[in-house]
Amino acid sequence: MQRFQCYIDGEFGDGEARFESIDPATGRAWAEMPEAREADVDRAVEAAHKALYAGAWPKLTATQRGKLLYKLADLVTANAQKLAELETRDTGKIIRETSAQIAYVADYYRYYAGIADKIEGAHLPIDKPDMDVWLRREPIGVVAMVVPWNSQLFLSAVKIGPALAAGCTMVVKASEDGPAPLLEFAGLVHEADFPAGVVNVITGFGPSCGAALSRHPKVDHIAFTGGPETARHVVRNSAENLASTSLELGGKSPFIVFADADLESAANAQVAGIFAATGQSCVAGSRLVVERGVKDRFLEILKAKAEAVRLGSPLDMATEVGPLATRRQREHIEALIARSLAAGAKVVTGASAPEGDGFYYRPTILDCDGGRSPALEEEFFGPVLSVASFENEAEALAIANDTRYGLAAGLFTRDLTRAHRLMKGIRAGIVWVNTYRAVSPIAPFGGFGLSGHGREGGMAAVLDYTRTKTVWLRTSDDPIPDPFVMR
Ligand code: NAD
Repeated sequence: MQRFQCYIDGEFGDGEARFESIDPATGRAWAEMPEAREADVDRAVEAAHKALYAGAWPKLTATQRGKLLYKLADLVTANAQKLAELETRDTGKIIRETSAQIAYVADYYRYYAGIADKIEGAHLPIDKPDMDVWLRREPIGVVAMVVPWNSQLFLSAVKIGPALAAGCTMVVKASEDGPAPLLEFAGLVHEADFPAGVVNVITGFGPSCGAALSRHPKVDHIAFTGGPETARHVVRNSAENLASTSLELGGKSPFIVFADADLESAANAQVAGIFAATGQSCVAGSRLVVERGVKDRFLEILKAKAEAVRLGSPLDMATEVGPLATRRQREHIEALIARSLAAGAKVVTGASAPEGDGFYYRPTILDCDGGRSPALEEEFFGPVLSVASFENEAEALAIANDTRYGLAAGLFTRDLTRAHRLMKGIRAGIVWVNTYRAVSPIAPFGGFGLSGHGREGGMAAVLDYTRTKTVWLRTSDDPIPDPFVMR
């Protein structure tokens, strides 16, 4: 069995305990992971704290930080295939997607490498003649980064990249499900020559590792991606250290199709939105909201596409849908489908697991038209599409916004003015018009409502990893006048 280690203070080592990682394609253990508990977490945070204030890191210029990030990006490019294979093995995400995604992860590091020396402060036009006042942008401090199991290299790059550009130090907690690629990535941080303690990578379980990390007194900011329930724990933990938080949570994103849309193209986007990554994507377009007049035709196209999907080994380049990441995830999907069927949903296709090993589940479409259904409200985080229909634009918008989440939305129409109206009316952090699931380091990403707050990607993300310091400098040589009057 392959063994992985934690990376703390520039050194690789075993955690306080170990646990086995399961290959979702077979359901059998394939690797041993280090389990960090409270003492490891403490060492990692202390190392990050020390590296923030002493040693080489705080002395580097922003340009030098950027150069280290470029080096890291090149190492990610050079090792993309290996990282992709590890992610596929440990999470079941298909190799077709992990190879493309990890090659792109390198571009995220490049983007933030370029930004490192463009984080500018300000000189204020202060209302006092004998004062010069500046705003400096300084690193927010020690950042705890907690990520879920899907796309760990991607979800950590959107945190590590801007945090390093801003000059922060960090402890990255890989998910206990599928941590292999992130633990391997730590080796690239080491090779890139970041000073010890700047980036620490650990893994472990939520209550023992994640909780200890998010309430640690020396953590200044928590960047969390995961589900809303866990986010509540994290926010409660932050009451201990009063760290600021950014939360990237789940979604129940509407995918709105009008009758005038190119239905074939919209169907391909819908397949990308719900079956790609086996639906284990926070931005999954999991609620199809389709104009009634074309509902049957659109479902016919979609059903044919869903049934033609190649389910198979995630390591095979021809596979389109691999297994779910964990047995628990499949059980959650089965239970939510059962509740939805009991509430009146009808199976258009799927809703069953194929025979054999591994945590596979067939691409599924549930028609939930005409009533409330758990399938339209709760996140499956799997390849399950729930369908509702509308008569007019107002109804489409009402259904789209009938959710406590607000991460993403897809809008398919050829009517430009309608697209503009709806794009403004939809309550979500990302609206894709006539496309779906497009991302870029240049474009901010994040949600409204239960989907969280804070933005990843773009310049805004870097500023979230800084805090301002106001510096007052008196330019007069005269003695300070009346000390009892505020100046
Ligand atoms: P999760 O919330 O169960 O776990 C996420 C992380 O939190 C894991 O590393 C886990 O160990 C840790 N954790 C668990 N309990 C904790 C605690 N008490 N204190 C601190 N940390 C704790 O999420 P998951 O099931 O691994 O992932 C699926 C969820 O993530 C879905 O809801 C999905 O939509 C969401 N997600 C969101 C985005 C986004 O960018 N918005 C991206 C991917 C996934």
